[in-house]
Amino acid sequence: MQNSSANQSLSSHPALLAKSAAELERIRRAIGDSTTSPDLREIIRQERRARGDRTPRDSPLTEDDLFIGIARPPTLRTDRAHWTCSLCSNVKAHPVAYTCGHSHCFVCIRLHLERSWKCPLPDCAKLMRQPPHRIYSEEQGIAYDFPHWDDPSVVSYSWDGLTFPRPLIFSDDE
Ligand SMILES: [Zn+2]
Ligand SMILES: [Zn+2]
Repeated sequence: MQNSSANQSLSSHPALLAKSAAELERIRRAIGDSTTSPDLREIIRQERRARGDRTPRDSPLTEDDLFIGIARPPTLRTDRAHWTCSLCSNVKAHPVAYTCGHSHCFVCIRLHLERSWKCPLPDCAKLMRQPPHRIYSEEQGIAYDFPHWDDPSVVSYSWDGLTFPRPLIFSDDE
């Protein structure tokens, strides 16, 4: 029986491809990884975090967890790219911004943060190490430019349950 695992190069460990705990088990069985090291899973998790990947929750967050009440933002499209959320293509509802300066709807980015800690704009992809913040200037700008867009929705602005990756000793994303 092969005793591979924590000592081999973890960055090339096939289990890093796993998207869930169940898949990790499948991969470990498939590659004959019989290690019982309780640390391996944690090491793999940290490796994936360091790359900006998240391990999905067993019961994923939904919009219903993030909106308060049943009202949702009405559809409103614009050719003004700076008011458009790149995740939902609608005018940004309850916009929040990162340290990189890019902003999205609170709900869109909160759901995105379930999968990745990276800014969703491919040209940016900056790793987020703290929650985005509410951006009042955009809220006001959108209200000014679209006075008839009556958005009755309310969101929680909650970042509960998120733990962001800690800074690396040798970081290339700051
Ligand atoms: Zn959005
Ligand atoms: Zn960005």
